[in-house]
Amino acid sequence: MKTLTLEQEINPWEAQSARFDFAAQKLNLDEGLWKVLRYPNRELIVHIPVSMDTGKLEVFTGFRVQHSIARGPAKGGVRFSPDVTLDEVRALASWMTWKCAVANIPFGGAKAGSICAPHKMSQGELERMTRRYTAELVEFIGPEKDVPAPDMNTNEQIMAWMMDTYSMHMRQTVTSVVTGKPINIGGSRGRREATGRGIMIVSNEAIKKLGMRPEDTRVIVQGFGNVGSNCARLMAQAGYTIIGIIEVDGAIYNARGIDIEGLWKHRERSGSIARFSEAEEADPAELMLAECGILIPAAIENQITSRNAARVKCRILAEGANGPTTAAADEILADKGVMIIPDILCNAGGVTTSYFEWVQDRQGYFWKESVVNEQLEDIMISAFHDVVRYAENHSVNNRIAAYMLAIDRVAYTIRQRGIYA
Ligand code: GLU
Repeated sequence: MKTLTLEQEINPWEAQSARFDFAAQKLNLDEGLWKVLRYPNRELIVHIPVSMDTGKLEVFTGFRVQHSIARGPAKGGVRFSPDVTLDEVRALASWMTWKCAVANIPFGGAKAGSICAPHKMSQGELERMTRRYTAELVEFIGPEKDVPAPDMNTNEQIMAWMMDTYSMHMRQTVTSVVTGKPINIGGSRGRREATGRGIMIVSNEAIKKLGMRPEDTRVIVQGFGNVGSNCARLMAQAGYTIIGIIEVDGAIYNARGIDIEGLWKHRERSGSIARFSEAEEADPAELMLAECGILIPAAIENQITSRNAARVKCRILAEGANGPTTAAADEILADKGVMIIPDILCNAGGVTTSYFEWVQDRQGYFWKESVVNEQLEDIMISAFHDVVRYAENHSVNNRIAAYMLAIDRVAYTIRQRGIYA
């Protein structure tokens, strides 16, 4: 893989492209298709005026990038964060294409982002921003075109506002325009926990492969948002010992295992995982490097880089977040024999259950939670074994195998459809 400067190393678009180029080369992908798949199909930049509680107008910048619609409607989340950049949204959109292809669900890939500080905005401001943003995207999105979902700092309420705004423009209720909605307005049972559940399912397969058992496996989770908290809870219920949780405002550690249910209650009461009496406070950067069976980065990008990868001491790295590991870190981890469950496989449970939600909305028939969870398990287990088999057959690591499998599937579809050029 080509050598990158540190700045390039942590640019998600560079991280995506480096792996894409490497995998495409391994696949002998022809140059034309390489050009088609390397860049997104469409990129939209919107400037969204929002009337703030102070009475003043503020203008926020938002993006929606559609990387591919070859295998179905574009699909992917919306993130609200002060650090969002177009390059990041581009990378995340491409990762959605590869993720949906790895899970083998009939979607392309997209992502949206709005540059804002959601924690400093009131509910009213967030609602007005979301609605105006959705209105700006109204021709771009739709159940057969592009279907947004939650991502960092967005949730069921934001999806409800997006669905409502789109529906007002269409003069009819269109629940299938977004996924990750509240259950009573077209959401799916199991969607909220789905990303965390998916991580647990692939972790179960990974430990089986390495001859480990949940009872003897110590887990550290970075992030206690939707993905990390549900993942920690489900894995604790399945018998894993969660020894560490790392959050933006601190980290906690208990060698005998953290009582995750207690931590949920504490977080509900206090708004933070800090000062939880049944665990010690720990240094967040050090806890990422503590010895464990499974390390689950489930927060943001670039957490494992060339600077700390050599000191990581997990047996399995299960990527709950998108892009938590840089390409340079991959090589270091491979030398250390760390088994990586790459993001485009590991966190695919969210979009897979989004697919179930979209199907249920279009059917107008809603499944029991056990049906959702069973279907999710089937898809995640197949995807895990598809990737691992691909890695073994082609003598590449799991990440490159996941990219190769995904690119192969998307390229096959494009060849079948033909290119309107
Ligand atoms: N934002 C999630 C992801 O990165 C879910 C996307 C979706 O459900 O469409 O996979």
